[in-house]
Amino acid sequence: MTSGSGRSRELEGKVALVTGAGSGIGYAIAERFAHEGAAVAIDYLGHSEDAQALARDLSAEGAKAVALEADVTNAAAVEALIAQVVERFGSLDVLVNNAGIEKSQPLLEVDEASWDRTLAVDLKGPFLCLQAAARRMKESGGGSIVNISSIHEDFPFPSFTPYAAAKGGLRMLMRNAALELAPLGIRVNNIAPGAIATPINAATLADPAKVQRLQEIVPLQRMGTPEEVAEVALFLASGRSSYVTGSTYFVDGGIVRHAEPL
Ligand code: NAD
Repeated sequence: MTSGSGRSRELEGKVALVTGAGSGIGYAIAERFAHEGAAVAIDYLGHSEDAQALARDLSAEGAKAVALEADVTNAAAVEALIAQVVERFGSLDVLVNNAGIEKSQPLLEVDEASWDRTLAVDLKGPFLCLQAAARRMKESGGGSIVNISSIHEDFPFPSFTPYAAAKGGLRMLMRNAALELAPLGIRVNNIAPGAIATPINAATLADPAKVQRLQEIVPLQRMGTPEEVAEVALFLASGRSSYVTGSTYFVDGGIVRHAEPL
């Protein structure tokens, strides 16, 4: 089958699971993948109505889509989620570990509960999903796993220590997994977004001074869009990136090359 432009669709016949896809970057990735022919499972926790509406709208357009509620920090829920995807669509070819949270707290005020929750959602969740998905991909001969990390997998983020620690961990989870899973035909890569206009940045988006500051320090002079992240996710999910594994792709408008401290 071809897309509206006449070219063949890049994920035709593939099955993709996107976690935390009821909003923001995950939502855009699920939508883009479906438009490229994938059957998509839209995992959500919160944003229930948006996730259900996305699945409904995509199905109405003729795509295969389902919204499934699952907390990625819960191993049993993740197992059940992956099993549901395989039962519904027959396989699992692409996993996008997108679900994530962050909380602004100076290091000396970080409490144990917020450390535990941030590490659980941003690091343990991707591990649980990656492991459960890779076990299925091993059976079917391969797949692609894409983790949405952050520029803070590499660069410090004062007042967001648990988040930066989790994203740094996600970088090494990706690198280890890429090596261990390569013989199984499973590629693993990260996308490191910079400042993207999504609900996670609601406070910044509501403050014109902060938006102005970002425009000054981002070399491309603006925040990115979820669709711009989805474009790179599509590349990493598809066969076009068949020789790419163990890499992080920065989608950040050049911000990590900026000379001034953030
Ligand atoms: P977002 O808040 O819209 O998306 C995060 C999603 O994860 C939400 O839908 C939320 O409900 C879901 N979620 C939270 N906990 C979950 C759980 N336990 N199980 C399942 N889903 C859960 O924000 P976003 O910007 O779209 O964030 C997506 C990813 O991108 C996150 O991993 C975030 O860290 C990363 N990221 C975003 C930016 C940015 O500037 N927006 C920059 C770097 C990295």
